[in-house]
Amino acid sequence: MSQAGEPYLYHHNLDKGPAPARPDLSELEFLCAFEVNFIVHSYVHALYLHRSAEADAAWAVDLEWEFDPGGRPYAEAALEAVRAGQAQLKCLVAVRPLGARRSAMRFLLERELGGCGFAAMPDKFVAAGIAGRRDYMRLYRKRKGQWERKKALVANRRPAIADAAEELGLQPRACGDLGWVANCPGGRHLVFLEYESNSFKCPWCRRHGGAEELRAFAAHPEVADGERAEGVPPAPAAGQ
Ligand SMILES: [Zn+2]
Repeated sequence: MSQAGEPYLYHHNLDKGPAPARPDLSELEFLCAFEVNFIVHSYVHALYLHRSAEADAAWAVDLEWEFDPGGRPYAEAALEAVRAGQAQLKCLVAVRPLGARRSAMRFLLERELGGCGFAAMPDKFVAAGIAGRRDYMRLYRKRKGQWERKKALVANRRPAIADAAEELGLQPRACGDLGWVANCPGGRHLVFLEYESNSFKCPWCRRHGGAEELRAFAAHPEVADGERAEGVPPAPAAGQ
C-alpha cells in the first residue's frame, strides 16, 4: 500500500503483510504518551520509536486508565508492564527510514494521531519523550480540526433509517466522525447507521439491513451465542 510520499511497510489499520518482529525492548526510544478517548472508554497510549537500517517503526503500549505508573516515568512503567505480561507491545506503523530522528517522530506521530480513527480521539498529553508537548499539541490541533469538519459534515447527513431507530427508541445520533449511530437492540453497544446505503449494521451481533430488518431485530433482539462475533474489540457502551 505504498503511496507517493507515504512509504508504508506496515500499518496496523490497513490490509498489509505481517507485522515486523518485536524488537528488543532496550532498543525502543520513547516518543511520548497521551490519552485516547474511545467513546466512553479512555486509555493511555505510550508510543515508542524503533529505528533500524530497514525501517522506522512506531510501537505502542496501551494502558488502561486505572494503570498506576507508581511514581516511575511512563516510558519505563509501560515497558515494565509489557515485561510483566500485563500489557501488549504492538507495532502501529513501519516505514522506510525517514532520516533524522525528529522527522521520523513527526511523521509517525502525525500518522498515528490522524489514523486514530474508529471513534478514537487523541486527548490529553501525558508524558514527553522525543516528542514534547508542543510537538504533540500542534499535531493534535490539526487532527481536531479535521475531526470537527468531518463531524459537521456527518451531522448534516442524517440517514433516513434514523427515523425507524427513533420510533424504536434507539436514540439515533451523530457520533463525531464515526457517522450516525443508535443503541443496539442486541446489547449495550452501538449500531452504525449508514447514509449511503440507508441501512444499519452491528458488527458485534452480526446483524444488518434496512428499516424492516431493524424493526425485526428490535422485536427479537436475542442473539444466539454462536452468531455473536468473536475477537472484536469491546463494544463501546451505548447512551453517549
Ligand atoms: Zn449489537
